[in-house]
Amino acid sequence: MLSLSEIQDFKGKFPKQIWYLFFTEMWERFCFYGNRGMLVIFMTDILLIKDDVANLKYGAIQAFVYAFTFVGGLFADKILGFQRSLLWGGILMVLGSIVMGLDAKQFFFYGICFIIVGTGFFKPNISTMVGELYRDGDPRRDSGFSLFYAGINIGALLGGGLCVYVGKTYSWNIAFLLSGVFMALGLLNFILTRKLLGPIGISPVTESPKKDRRNRWFVYAGTLAVLPLIYIMIRKTEYTDLFMYIIGPVTLVYIFYEMTKLDKMQIKKMVAAIIFILLSIIFWSFFEQSGGSLSLFARDLVASNMMGIDIDSNVVNNSANSFFVICFSALIGMMWVWLNKRKLEPNYFAKFGLAFLFLSLSFYIFYAMRFWLNSDGLASLGLFALAYLVISIGELFLSPIGLSLMTKLSPKHLWGIMMGMWFLASAYGQYVAGVLGAGMSNPDENAPLSVRLDGYTNGYLQLSIYALITGVVIILVARWLNRLMQENPE
Ligand code: GLN
Repeated sequence: MLSLSEIQDFKGKFPKQIWYLFFTEMWERFCFYGNRGMLVIFMTDILLIKDDVANLKYGAIQAFVYAFTFVGGLFADKILGFQRSLLWGGILMVLGSIVMGLDAKQFFFYGICFIIVGTGFFKPNISTMVGELYRDGDPRRDSGFSLFYAGINIGALLGGGLCVYVGKTYSWNIAFLLSGVFMALGLLNFILTRKLLGPIGISPVTESPKKDRRNRWFVYAGTLAVLPLIYIMIRKTEYTDLFMYIIGPVTLVYIFYEMTKLDKMQIKKMVAAIIFILLSIIFWSFFEQSGGSLSLFARDLVASNMMGIDIDSNVVNNSANSFFVICFSALIGMMWVWLNKRKLEPNYFAKFGLAFLFLSLSFYIFYAMRFWLNSDGLASLGLFALAYLVISIGELFLSPIGLSLMTKLSPKHLWGIMMGMWFLASAYGQYVAGVLGAGMSNPDENAPLSVRLDGYTNGYLQLSIYALITGVVIILVARWLNRLMQENPE
């Protein structure tokens, strides 16, 4: 078995193990984004759920998905180890897709419960394993995460585009099944390559292997036992509210407790990490309109052709973001290196601030689409794609950097939990996104197009203004906040 230092002392830009994780994550994201892209369309078109309720359900489902990443991170740290967590999560995701594939109309919510818990065990732990490929202070860590992020988005692009297309044009059952086939491919890729990860992600061993085994079985059984509970909670969004009120504060209290055991310098770094996490909540609540209100906006109010070519507006909605992330991630990585050489690279907080400015601009474009309608009263697909270009650049200023920061700022024994917290912030983002989206969509399905357009675009204008204010404030205090990180004092 390769030792950790053999892996971490790699020559060149990337460790070769990153490619194994890259492909595993790529197919998992195919499954995840395939399902995400179908959620509201399937709920409104096939289950005949009203738009505003579908937005709330979307928020609740996505919130649970990401909330479970915290639980997944915790159990991986303490009991399963990252590799076993990943396998368990992957199996659950495949099962979920099969359940929906059997008869999506009947079993949709059952299948979704499996996807929720499965993603929880899978998602944070694969990201943490990427962090483990690097020694502390290795400057190549950020570019490793950028590469990994490109893999995420290749999967998201293919899954997000293909599944909704297959669902809308052929069969929803096949579309859900398709997501499971690719998840199984990712799992297979992981099983075949995990030996080459050396000690990375193997289970934490305590004094008694027998006790460890028993604990693992408890986790597996506990997971299955919790499924009916999740089912009840997503069926009734009021329970989601309750869950969200509880999980965040409890997690914070737990992290504060862990922080009492750290030294002063470590505490400052953890405070910086928590501030990044809190800021990302605001970012995701706006950004995640993309799977909720923007899906419905695309379906009803955006033209399905661009420069004479017919393209389904929902396919663009589900794929444009990933497409632009793939196009720009290397470029932005190179820009940071270029700026760094000239001592002009903004610090991490300033990058987060800039991410909000891009977010603000993109929502301004979504708003401004109301001024360019075609003869059918539909908005331009080109402008819609342009807004996605801008939002994707914003995402690249925040999301891959955030992943890398979680492993950089926290001590190793808290990596799983901190990565889980990073995604828990997405859970809150998703939850708020659903609430915001529900506020924008018109419950009256027969309302004229112009009224519905006004509802969405007025909402987008407000988001644009709030994002602008947040971005400016962060940039103003970035220099001061950066001191917490105990590095690159400017
Ligand atoms: N698009 C990224 C991913 O799927 C980030 C998602 C998030 O944290 N909300 O991993």
